[in-house]
Amino acid sequence: MTIAYDAIVIGTGQSGPFLARRLSAAGMKIAIAERGLFGGTCVNTGCIPTKALVASAYAAHLTSRAAEFGVTIGGPVGIDMKRVKARKDEISGASNHSVESGLRKLENCTVYQGHARFESQHEVSVGDVRLTASRIFLNVGGRAVIPSIPGLDQVPYLTNSSMMQVDFLPKHLIILGGSYIGLEFGQMYRRFGSEVTIIENGPRLIAREDEDVSAAILDILQREGVQVRLSSKCRSVAKQGDDIVASLDGPGAVPEVRGSHLLLAVGRRPNTDDLGLEKAGVAVDAHGYIQVDDQLRTNVPGIWGMGDCNGKGAFTHTSYNDFEIVAANILDNDLRKVSDRIRTYGLFIDPPLGRAGMNEAEARNSGRKVLIGKRLMTKVGRAVEKSETLGFMKVLIDAGSMRILGAAILGTGGDEAIHCILDVMYADKPYTVIQRAVHIHPTVSELIPTMLGELQPLEGAS
Ligand SMILES: Cc1cc2nc3c(=O)[nH]c(=O)nc-3n(C[C@H](O)[C@H](O)[C@H](O)COP(=O)(O)OP(=O)(O)OC[C@H]3O[C@@H](n4cnc5c(N)ncnc54)[C@H](O)[C@@H]3O)c2cc1C
Repeated sequence: MTIAYDAIVIGTGQSGPFLARRLSAAGMKIAIAERGLFGGTCVNTGCIPTKALVASAYAAHLTSRAAEFGVTIGGPVGIDMKRVKARKDEISGASNHSVESGLRKLENCTVYQGHARFESQHEVSVGDVRLTASRIFLNVGGRAVIPSIPGLDQVPYLTNSSMMQVDFLPKHLIILGGSYIGLEFGQMYRRFGSEVTIIENGPRLIAREDEDVSAAILDILQREGVQVRLSSKCRSVAKQGDDIVASLDGPGAVPEVRGSHLLLAVGRRPNTDDLGLEKAGVAVDAHGYIQVDDQLRTNVPGIWGMGDCNGKGAFTHTSYNDFEIVAANILDNDLRKVSDRIRTYGLFIDPPLGRAGMNEAEARNSGRKVLIGKRLMTKVGRAVEKSETLGFMKVLIDAGSMRILGAAILGTGGDEAIHCILDVMYADKPYTVIQRAVHIHPTVSELIPTMLGELQPLEGAS
C-alpha cells in the first residue's frame, strides 16, 4: 500500500523539523522519516554535546588556574568523567526529546522511524511502507569519514559519534585530523587530563584559516601540553598490547605515535550513498553532495536538498538558514537565496575563534585594494582583566567601497563579538558605522572601533 502525503521530509536535522512545522501550519499533510536519533548531528553528536563538554573542560581549566585569581580550592582538581558525560547527556537529551515530541505532536504530521530511500521520483520507502508526495525535502546530513588507512579495520577507533559514549579518561588520545572537530576534542580531553596527540597531514592546523590564525591556535594548544604532529601522514595503525600505534610519514613526522585511544576527525561525508537518489534522478557531485540551485532545488522538480547534504554549508546555522530559504520560497513568495548568506562560523576551542566573510588570503586574491586592522588580545582590557589574553582580532576592508570583507576574532568572547562585524556586513554599510559606534566598556567588542581606526594597507593586495 502506498500512502499519499503533500510533502515528505527525510531526516530530522536542523532544517527538516522546522520545515515540517511550517508545512503543517500551512495545512499540508506531511510524513517525516528519521533513521537514527531525532535532531541529528547538532543535537546528538555535534554542536550541543561537544559544547557541553567544552564547558566542562573550561571549568576544569579555570579551576586549575584558581590560584592565579586568588581563589583557593584546597586540593588538586578532580574530573568525574561519568558526571561530565551525564551533564552532556542531560543537555543533549533534552534537545533530542524536544525535537521528537514536537514532531509527534505536530498536526497533520506522521513520523516514520527507519531508513528512507527513493523508489522513484515521487515515491519513498521506509521499511515496508511506501509513501508518495509531489514535494520531497532531503535533510539527511553527514557522517564522519573513515579513511582507508592500512590496519584501521584491526584497531578500535572513535568518531565524533562514538566519543559521545566515552565516560572515562583515555590515557593518551591520538587524534587524526587537525581541523575544527579534532581541535575541539583535543583541547577538551587535554583539559580533562588525557595526554593528547593531534596528527595532521598538512603543514599547519586548520589550513582553511590564515597562517597567523593557525599559528596562534597551535600556540594555544601547545601551551596546554597538546602534542601536535604537523606534516605527518598516518601510514598505518596497529594494535600492540593495550596500545594503538600510528606509524607516520612525512617531513614533520616522528616514526610513530603510541596511545591508548584513536579518534578519527579527518572530515565529513554526506549521507547520500544509500538514499536511492539514482531512482529519482537526483544529481550529486563527485563527493556525493546533492546538487542544488540558489533556492536549494535539486535538478528534479519537487525535490529539495537542505543542510550539510547539499555541500553549501556544514553548520547548524547554515542548515537552519536552508529551511528559512525553502520555506520563504515555497510558502511566503519571498525569493530568499543561498548566495545572500555571508560565510560565518566558530571554532569552539578556548579562547574561541569567530569568523565572518573572507580570510586574508581570499581578500588578497580578490583583486581589491584591501586595508587590514589587527589588535592583539593583550591590548584588550576585558581580556587582561580575565587573564585570557591569547589570540588577536583582525578585520579586512575594501578600501574602495569601505565595506568589510571579513574578520577573525580569536580570543575570549570572539564567538560573540564577531556578530557586530557580521551584522554591519549584512546591512551593507561602510566600516565607519562600527568605527563611530560607542560600545560598552569593558568588552572585547569595544576595541573593534579602535582597531578600525588603525587600518593599514594589506601587503600583497593590489
Ligand atoms: C563534532 C561536531 C561538532 C560540531 N559543532 C558545530 C558547531 O559548534 N556549530 C555548528 O554550527 N555546527 C557544528 N557542527 C556541524 C553541525 O552539527 C551540522 O552542520 C548540523 O547538525 C546540520 O546538520 P543537518 O541539518 O544537515 O543534518 P543532521 O543534523 O546531520 O541530521 C540528518 C538526519 O538525517 C537522518 N538520516 C540520514 N539519512 C537518512 C535516511 N535515509 N532516512 C532517514 N533518516 C536519515 C540522520 O539520522 C540524521 O538524524 C558540528 C559537527 C560535528 C560532527
